[in-house]
Amino acid sequence: MKKIAIFMFIDAMGWEIIKDRSFLKDLLPHRYRVGMQFGYSSTAIPTILTGEKPTVHKHLSFYYYAPEKSPFKMMKYLGLGMLPSSIADRWRVRHILSKVVARYYGFTGYFEMYAMPFSRIHLFDYIEKTDIFVPGGLSPVKNLADTLEANRISYHISNWRLQESQNIEALTKDLQKGEINFAFLYTAAMDGLLHRVTKDGEEIDVKMKWYEDNIRKLMKEAQSNYQDVYFTVFSDHGMTTLAGVVDMKREVEKLGLIFGKDYAAVYDSTMVRLWFLNDSARDIILETLSKAPHSHILDDMELKKYSIDFHDHMYGDTILLMDPGWQIAPCDMGLKALPGMHGFAPEHEDSYAALLSSDPVDTQLGCVDDYFRLMREKMDWLRK
Ligand SMILES: [Zn+2]
Repeated sequence: MKKIAIFMFIDAMGWEIIKDRSFLKDLLPHRYRVGMQFGYSSTAIPTILTGEKPTVHKHLSFYYYAPEKSPFKMMKYLGLGMLPSSIADRWRVRHILSKVVARYYGFTGYFEMYAMPFSRIHLFDYIEKTDIFVPGGLSPVKNLADTLEANRISYHISNWRLQESQNIEALTKDLQKGEINFAFLYTAAMDGLLHRVTKDGEEIDVKMKWYEDNIRKLMKEAQSNYQDVYFTVFSDHGMTTLAGVVDMKREVEKLGLIFGKDYAAVYDSTMVRLWFLNDSARDIILETLSKAPHSHILDDMELKKYSIDFHDHMYGDTILLMDPGWQIAPCDMGLKALPGMHGFAPEHEDSYAALLSSDPVDTQLGCVDDYFRLMREKMDWLRK
């Protein structure tokens, strides 16, 4: 019997967005709320592709303090830090520059400089230098493509650089050929839309309808070329509506300490990650941040629970997390807060991911890393 297992990833289509909608209930009646991996998609996708936690695959946020091995050292000498902010802060300028830098260094992964200050970037390294979807992309940890190849399963994995309609089209063509038995379809436009209009935006219904129509077509295509079709739609996290902003950068910088000498910091949208370069800087910063509004410093229990207790403190000696809905603005990811954001505590209702399946799922779906175990199970099913 000719079989196919299709896993469709829809970035940010969380449980709160799906739970009260009839979205594909006839085709995908088995619906599960799934715990988010603490972090962003940059953490969740490597977790889904390996079934391992961040302490194992080493991906959390994009930037980490590494002055000796920073690939951006040369940027210090280009004098980009001297550019007026009216130019340096323009998204388009940074986007083009990111492409130039990626090409220069041969990065094949998703690389975007975001709003990382040019005067500091030479102190940091960037984790996603290679394409994490292709064989060896998360080496030494084995990823989905490695596992499919080891099991000699003919597969299709989307090219994340393409638009989602192109990815759907590419998969449709492969389904028509009937030569693959496993597909991982990547779609990410929902995330951008949710950031812009929030989970309550009217545009969400329109987008959901678009996915619904396309999934029905894909299902039909699969069923006309295969006898046994397994289909699942899943996400990595949800979206939390903006509650307010805090200028954490100003809170730290007003202390008068020197960046790169006393401390280093990355301001993500929902967390501040700090490296202390001397004890007095540590005391002064911690004293201030422990009183900072709408946030708290993650304790050892939380770091362990979220599997981000890196022994070498790769992503910071201390991590401050914002309360759900509260964003850091300006931050190194963007100068303005967005109407919607993710990357808050996984326990918050808006953080939960979702999995919708054509068949009942026996695998325990505690957290998004369990998707990998489900994909493994389906590989065994394919070989039966
Ligand atoms: Zn996002």
